[in-house]
Amino acid sequence: MPLLPGHATLGVLGGGQLGRMFVHAAQALGYRCVVLDPDESSPAGAVAHDHVRADYLDAQALEDLARRCDAITTEFENVPARALEQLARTRVVAPGAAAVAVCQDRAREKAHFDASGVPCAPYAVLRGTADLAAVPDTLLPGILKTARLGYDGKGQRRVADRAQLTAAFDELGRVDCVLEQMLPLALELSVLVARGADGQVQTYPVQQNLHRDGILAVTEVPAPQVDAAMQAQARQSAAAIAAGLGYVGVLCVEFFVLKDGRLVVNEMAPRPHNSGHYTMDACDVSQFEMQVRAMAGLPLREPRLHSPVVMLNLLGDLWFDADGRERAPDWAGVLAIPGAELHLYGKTEARHGRKMGHLNVIGASADEARDNARRACALLGLPATW
Ligand code: ATP
Ligand code: MG
Repeated sequence: MPLLPGHATLGVLGGGQLGRMFVHAAQALGYRCVVLDPDESSPAGAVAHDHVRADYLDAQALEDLARRCDAITTEFENVPARALEQLARTRVVAPGAAAVAVCQDRAREKAHFDASGVPCAPYAVLRGTADLAAVPDTLLPGILKTARLGYDGKGQRRVADRAQLTAAFDELGRVDCVLEQMLPLALELSVLVARGADGQVQTYPVQQNLHRDGILAVTEVPAPQVDAAMQAQARQSAAAIAAGLGYVGVLCVEFFVLKDGRLVVNEMAPRPHNSGHYTMDACDVSQFEMQVRAMAGLPLREPRLHSPVVMLNLLGDLWFDADGRERAPDWAGVLAIPGAELHLYGKTEARHGRKMGHLNVIGASADEARDNARRACALLGLPATW
């Protein structure tokens, strides 16, 4: 039996911008929403019907959340698996603790890619200094990544040789790590896949992503440099990865296209994703509505891209001028641009590198979306090259 709009209450663990946009989508359909997050002024807590202010491992608060909700999801990747397990004893939890645990650990994640038959970068798992000596020369130069808790390029070191590898392993605290061969990247892509408890699967069109300083900066859809065969391959791979996890909800799978044209999977996030924000204005079903549908047991309609789109991430840097003085970005000017849709997350304090919002620029053609996105960049002081 689906949890029907207008009756059920949906819960979210985590109160960041992903939770906020999930709540907006759920409320638009008529669901009540409860957010659990310790932060008084969390972006999602501010818009939910109820905000339980507590730690994610507070057993009493989790019980409270379960009592108030019919189904619960998460909006951040590092939610403790134990919290999901406790909730799952009495309520629908999507995605489930077991699938989230795989996504939280790069070593398990890579093992799952191998098991799904989807190629990833050659790698070695390092669980202690003894494993350093066994690293094959072919993995250098490489990137050392902590197995757990990395995001936006944090918890990573580029290493050229064995001396640097040893130093980087020490610097990262000798925690479990994965060393990946440094690959010659031509492009970065990602694919959203939604899967229901009954096994129905839908994928979205492929996103082409540009990162700056390890943080997503620009997403373009349709991916301008990816042919139809590779798009189909990426979507099929994402669907296979989700099916193998018995996944329920929206999953985002990141890929690299190598200079020799091969497609290689990078990592996955067990939730709607920053690179999927374009769906809010360019598709008939957003990634957040799809998450609602999947957890509620509703039909996952095939998503349709109705407009070419460029998404620009808006980091806190835009709130400062060249001399470091605070300023207000020219939103009025930006909103005069045809097809420009602004999404700010309600964060009061702007900091460098902090995700404050995003701008989707849709157009009747890809050229129009790109030209108008470049006009927005000029007004905001963002680089207009990508
Ligand atoms: P996020 O959570 O923001 O997606 P992350 O911190 O989890 O990022 P990764 O996606 O693993 O980190 O890596 C960050 C970026 O570093 C990638 O988007 C890519 O540009 C580069 N990178 C990662 N692994 C490799 C590799 N094996 N070869 C070449 N470049 C890589
Ligand atoms: Mg990544």
